[in-house]
Amino acid sequence: MNLYPLGLRLDGRRVLVVGGGAVATRRVPALLDAGADVLVVSPELTPALHGLVTAGRLGWRQRRFQPGDLDGAWLVQVAVDDPAAAAEVSAAAEPRRVFCVRADDRTEATAWTPAVTRHGPVTVAVLGGGDPQRAVRVRDAIDQRLADGTIPVAGTVGTAPATAGPGPTGRVVLVGAGPGDPELITVKGRRMLAEADVVVADRLVPGLLLDELPARVELVDAAKIPYGPAAAQEEINRILVDRARAGSVVVRLKGGDPYVFGRGGEELLACVEAGVPVSVVPGVSSSVAAPAAAGIPVTHRGVAHEFTVVSGHLPPGHQLSLVDWPALARLRGTLVVLMGLKNLPAIAETLLANGRGADTPAAVVQEATTGAQRALTSTLGAVAGEAAAAGLRPPAVVVVGDVVGTLDRTD
Ligand code: SAH
Repeated sequence: MNLYPLGLRLDGRRVLVVGGGAVATRRVPALLDAGADVLVVSPELTPALHGLVTAGRLGWRQRRFQPGDLDGAWLVQVAVDDPAAAAEVSAAAEPRRVFCVRADDRTEATAWTPAVTRHGPVTVAVLGGGDPQRAVRVRDAIDQRLADGTIPVAGTVGTAPATAGPGPTGRVVLVGAGPGDPELITVKGRRMLAEADVVVADRLVPGLLLDELPARVELVDAAKIPYGPAAAQEEINRILVDRARAGSVVVRLKGGDPYVFGRGGEELLACVEAGVPVSVVPGVSSSVAAPAAAGIPVTHRGVAHEFTVVSGHLPPGHQLSLVDWPALARLRGTLVVLMGLKNLPAIAETLLANGRGADTPAAVVQEATTGAQRALTSTLGAVAGEAAAAGLRPPAVVVVGDVVGTLDRTD
């Protein structure tokens, strides 16, 4: 007999889950995500389900199933191992006309749960004709093709008008590409890339991400825009707005996170002012990823309970610098300096002059998370000289604080 597939709108509707173990723990989040009013009946719960009960997201009857538990339910998920207990639920569900999903025995179930993947507005649900592994295999293959853009999700793909004019579908998405490893972009960022008609990329964006773009995608290399830095930013803003107005999905791909020294805020405002729809997909920032890639946790219990990320683009004392370096020297936690390699001698000197100890551990991590990563561990007193001697180059982050080397110590 063929199945009849449906998308259930469970918002506010009661779903009963019988059982509180591993299977229930896996099933409940998707039910909650769909807005269902979930009631679990089970003498015991896993810690994860317990946490949801405590948070008020889940109802719980702490006992074995009774037929009356089905009152008001639209659907029941049976997540118990014991076939007799499961059969009892099925027997009670049938006369009440409540669809019953059975984890223990799909032949006894009146509804099957598919393998699912979601890409923005699209939900793909695969039923494997009684073979869950087959469903997962097919789902994964579709998932892969949705992620790499072979199956287009956006309605605009390939159909963006070439001429200027207000386009209903045009928009800009500021996407954080992560610190360098192409696998460190977020799932959502990757999906946006797959939907893009135009990609405007920064210098620090992982090249491999751009390699994957289909030929139909227009790639604008923001690093190659002539003019000075200020005019170049205006030009980038203009490109974002113009292409979106022409109906394109424009992805502005930026290294790390768009809002960490990335001028993402300026680009967002330019779009808002132009009336172009704009959204942001955060990224993994080098300010935490570069230390992590070198084995340095930016916080560690009992060692550092704060971390401060600062731009070292302008040297301490520079009239345009908004950084209060003497105040930073008095902090006890971790200091992460971005764009600070060139001014490292002046930065270290200022921190030392304002009270940070010369023996404070310090590290420099260059091209973190890429095949070219280099890291150097030193002290605040010596780091500038050693980084220069080692020939370290940007992009690099400087980390100052006792977290440096803390995971190496065995005592
Ligand atoms: N938005 C980015 C930072 C842009 S500022 C982010 O969130 O990561 C550019 C600076 O970031 C570089 O000068 C360097 O200090 C740092 N940086 C970026 N990628 C890096 C990497 N892979 N390794 C080390 N530092 C990196």
